[in-house]
Amino acid sequence: MQKHLDLSRHRWEEIQLSLSSLTGLSLFIYDPSKRRPCTPVAHEHLLCHLVHQTERETLCQNSLAQQVELAIQTRQISFTKCQANLNYFVIPIHLSNEMRYAMVGGKVYYRDDEYAQFKQEASQWGISAEKLPVSVETARFREEGLQEMARHLQVVATALLENIYRRGQYQAKAAHLTTLLSIGNQFKSANSISDLYTTLLNTLGILFDLKSACIFHQAKKQGSHRGVAAFGEKKERLYPSEALLDVLFQKGTGSEPFIFNDVTFDLLKSKFPPDVTSCYLFPLYQGRNARTTLAIFDTPLTLEDTAMVTSFCTQAGAAVENIELQSQLAEQRKVMMALSNLTIMIDSPLYLNHLHNSILEQTLQLLQAEQGSLMVLDEYKNELSVKAMKGINRPIYEMFNLRPGEGIAGSVYETGVPLLVQDLNQDPRIRQGAKPRYRTSSFLSVPLKLRNRIIGVINLADKITGEVFSEEDLQLLQAIGSYISIAIERSELYEKTEELKRISITDVLTGLLNRRYFQERLTEEIERSRRHRIPVSLIMVDIDNFKAFNDNYGHLGGDEILILLGQALRNYIRAIDVAARYGGEEFTIILPQTNKEDARIIAERLCREIERNETLHKKFSDLTRLTVSVGLATFPDDAETFEELIRNADRALYQAKLQGKNRVITFNSELFS
Ligand code: GH3
Ligand code: MG
Ligand code: MG
Repeated sequence: MQKHLDLSRHRWEEIQLSLSSLTGLSLFIYDPSKRRPCTPVAHEHLLCHLVHQTERETLCQNSLAQQVELAIQTRQISFTKCQANLNYFVIPIHLSNEMRYAMVGGKVYYRDDEYAQFKQEASQWGISAEKLPVSVETARFREEGLQEMARHLQVVATALLENIYRRGQYQAKAAHLTTLLSIGNQFKSANSISDLYTTLLNTLGILFDLKSACIFHQAKKQGSHRGVAAFGEKKERLYPSEALLDVLFQKGTGSEPFIFNDVTFDLLKSKFPPDVTSCYLFPLYQGRNARTTLAIFDTPLTLEDTAMVTSFCTQAGAAVENIELQSQLAEQRKVMMALSNLTIMIDSPLYLNHLHNSILEQTLQLLQAEQGSLMVLDEYKNELSVKAMKGINRPIYEMFNLRPGEGIAGSVYETGVPLLVQDLNQDPRIRQGAKPRYRTSSFLSVPLKLRNRIIGVINLADKITGEVFSEEDLQLLQAIGSYISIAIERSELYEKTEELKRISITDVLTGLLNRRYFQERLTEEIERSRRHRIPVSLIMVDIDNFKAFNDNYGHLGGDEILILLGQALRNYIRAIDVAARYGGEEFTIILPQTNKEDARIIAERLCREIERNETLHKKFSDLTRLTVSVGLATFPDDAETFEELIRNADRALYQAKLQGKNRVITFNSELFS
């Protein structure tokens, strides 16, 4: 369909009137597609006006249409005579080679007889003689004069109309640009790349009437491009799809913003849908690793169109970059979180097992790896032992207990040089037999350094995304590696301190609490008893006739009895009770929250348990059975202080010995006074 010139808005009528006045000719513009004039006639000839009121009008219009058709077909000005013998011309006007108009003008008599002839016929047409002027201006133009005038008018009118047409086009373009700019501005606030792509494709698709378009993403600046969003007729076939755009890129100079490609062979090589006939490529975004490209298919674009699409893509590209930066920031925040978690771990007294697992868990999460192991050097065995692992099956784990220098982790430990393997099948550093069996062919192994010492190795494999580990991953792992080393060292120190503490409160021979710690605990229990007004009882146990055992089995034999009795006591007491070796062959048991009566039952049962203890009996069967005497006192019933409580329990024990041993005596203030 032919587009139309909007002449009404361009003061064309004034221009036409001026041209008409200057030349003294009547003028108007004719639209051949509508088969009628599209401007009112400037200086219409009086005779024309009269003819138009008669039946001859139709003949007039038909012959005009024919003349216009002829002029446009031949691209030549046509000169002719109308029914009223008036001479006129039809000037063909071709705008931008696509719009066709005609300027019609003239209506002059060259000679008087031309008018005279018309006068004779006019009455037959129904024009009465009175209406006709006596004479009209003739001989103002010679034939050559009108022809020359028409040629001049052709140049001037074409230029003026072309100008108006262009301006109209520019206004349409300007409207496009305004739309593009305002949508481009909204890109800034887009927060997902896929939303942005959809907006971009829909906007361009509608404004430029695109047949099909697709956004392609290339993850590593090599290999195939993946269709990530599409528009138009081939939408379903373009997304998702894979294409090889590099073939087409190579055809361009690289600096050009787009490539028009109508060479079918190249398009076939690019693996687009086979019915694609042409393609423009617009770079959308070039990241450090990735590249995104807009492809427009089967739609011819003008130079101006491509300039607009290019600038729109530039805006969209900036927004994509912004979103990418945001997500990188989020990544960095994740790193910071992981680091702060590691820092918290350094400060918390976690047991090593838990710590190793937490460290590995955090690291795997941070680097998005599925498998991993944390190995620490066991100084006594001089071997790297796996302290934590994830996703690695047992046989591989067993292989992993390595000596320094052995295998991959062993040599990373020995050399202190981290290892980033991107493709283990291609990497000359990996010996054929030593290839680990990971899902993907990329892994990381980093030494854990502490000042100038290496304490272990951390190994990661199998990125969740299936990608290979990058240089950045290696740097990140090395950075957190030093935190990990500190955490491990701290935790080891903590364990050693805990061990020392444990040693200082236990009796070496029996493993029960020692006398010093017993006194501490008893003081605490008495305090608690005071606060909560609940009783605490104390039992003192002394082995009967122990000297005789010593004499019979020697001092070491005696020691063994003490160890066995210690075990028996530990087994016998409740979780809240506290058993201690008070000294020599004397033991004490604190019974928190236990009144005198309950304590007596416990003590009696203990006495019988030891008498019947088969382990002790079997070992030392040639003597009388091993028995104990027990003294019992309760706070606050029998004492006001902790010294008094011990003293009275001891007095009860002494009574038990006096009354024949192997029995329990409960302190009673009346009895002992
Ligand atoms: P009683 O029934 O009156 O308690 O008689 P007893 O033989 O047990 O006499 P007493 O309690 O006075 O003697 C305790 C003996 O225990 C004295 C000491 O040689 C022995 N003894 C103390 N500590 C140890 C020790 O750590 N190992 C060994 N093997 N013997 C010890
Ligand atoms: Mg004793
Ligand atoms: Mg004794």
